[in-house]
Amino acid sequence: MMDQPLASRIGPTPLLDAAQLNADIEATARFGGTGNGGVSRLTLTPEDKAVRDWFVARASELGCSVTIDPIGNLFASYPGRNAALPAIMTGSHLDTQPGGGRYDGILGVLAGFAALRALKSSGLVTEHPLTVVNWTNEEGSRFSPAMFGSGVHAGAIALDEALAIRDQSGVSVGQALDSIGYRGSRSHTENPAAYVELHIEQGPVLEAEGIAIGAVTGVQGLRWFDVEIKGTESHAGSTPMANRRDALTAAARLILDVEAIGRAHAPGVLTVGRAGVFPNSRNVVPGRVSLQIDMRHPGKAGLEAMETALRQAVAGQTDSRIERIWAKKPVAFDPACIDAVRQAAADCGLSCRDIASGAGHDAAHLATLAPTAMIFIPSRDGLSHNEREYSSPRQCADGAEVLLRTLLKLDRRLA
Ligand SMILES: [Zn+2]
Repeated sequence: MMDQPLASRIGPTPLLDAAQLNADIEATARFGGTGNGGVSRLTLTPEDKAVRDWFVARASELGCSVTIDPIGNLFASYPGRNAALPAIMTGSHLDTQPGGGRYDGILGVLAGFAALRALKSSGLVTEHPLTVVNWTNEEGSRFSPAMFGSGVHAGAIALDEALAIRDQSGVSVGQALDSIGYRGSRSHTENPAAYVELHIEQGPVLEAEGIAIGAVTGVQGLRWFDVEIKGTESHAGSTPMANRRDALTAAARLILDVEAIGRAHAPGVLTVGRAGVFPNSRNVVPGRVSLQIDMRHPGKAGLEAMETALRQAVAGQTDSRIERIWAKKPVAFDPACIDAVRQAAADCGLSCRDIASGAGHDAAHLATLAPTAMIFIPSRDGLSHNEREYSSPRQCADGAEVLLRTLLKLDRRLA
C-alpha cells in the first residue's frame, strides 16, 4: 500500500475534514474576538500569543516539530518519506487588522493543518516533508512595513532593521517578541521546494462570477505618488471668481482625471486616498493641496503607461509637482505551480479562473525563494479588513481541498 504511487490512490472524494476545519476557524476566532464575528488580533500582542500557543499545540498534536525563527515566524514541520528533500511549504498569517475578520490569513494556516490531518488519517505519505508556516506581521497595522516576517525570511529586509521597528507607543518588534516569548533563536534557512498559500480573495470577482477557486497568477505591482498643487491663498469674500488661483478646484479636476486614467488602464487601479488642503479654512481660497496616490497594475508595461498618463495630467495643472515615493514590482507566480492549482480544482470538480491578486501577500516574498502559487476563494461582498468578512464553510473547505491536492501534485512532480 505504502509503495503505491500516491496519485493512483486519490479519487475525487474529498480527503479533507471540512467540519474540523470549520471548528478550527471558530476556535481561533475567539483569540481577540470582537463579539461581532470579527477579530482584532494585532501582531505580537497577548491575543497573538494566544493564537500562537494554539498553533504550537495543534502542530504538536499532528506530530510536527515546531521551530521559531528570530523574527517570530512559526514553522511546523511534518515528515515525508524522504528527509533529504526540501520541504513543500504552505501557510499564511494569524495576525489581523483592528476590527478585522476571521479568515484573512487565518484560513491559509488552518488549511495547512487540515491538509496534514487528512494525510495522517488516510495514511498517505508525501515524498517531501511538509511545512505549515505562520508569518509574523503580515498586516502591518501595528508595525510598518507589512509582511516583514516573510520579508526577513526571504532576505528582503534585514533582521536587525525589522527588530528595531517601533509601534506608536514606542515598543520595538524585538521587545514585543520577547514580551510574548516568541523570539526564536534559529533561522529557518532551507529554501522550500515550493510554496502554496490559500487566502480569501478580499475582492468581489470570484463571487460576482460564481467561481469557486481563483488560480492566482501573481501580485500586482504598486507605485505611490505624492502630488502637490499650488495656488494663491486669498480672501474668500474680496477675491472675484475670475481672479482666483484656487488649488482645491484644480485638485478636484485632477482627481477626476486620475479616476479616468484608472478606468482606461484596466485591470489597473488608481486611487487618490488622501488629500490635504491648506490652510483649510472656510473663508480662504485654498493656496495649496497635497494628494496621496496609490497605483497598482499586474504588469510592468501597464504601470509605466499609467504613470506616464498620471504625470501628464499633473503637468496639465499650473504650478504642480509629482514625486514617486515608493514602488513594488509586480510578482509573477510560477507557471507550473499555477497549473497545479488549476488541475487540482478540476480534479475536485470546482470552477476555476486565473486571477491577479490586488493585495500584497507573504507569497510575493516567497516567490523570490521558490516556485510559488496562491489559491483564492470567494469573499462575500468582496469585503475584507472588516468584521463582516465572510467565506462559507463550504468555500473554505473547497479551498483547503484544492490546497491539499495542489501540494500532492507538486510533491509528485518535484520528487
Ligand atoms: Zn492576509
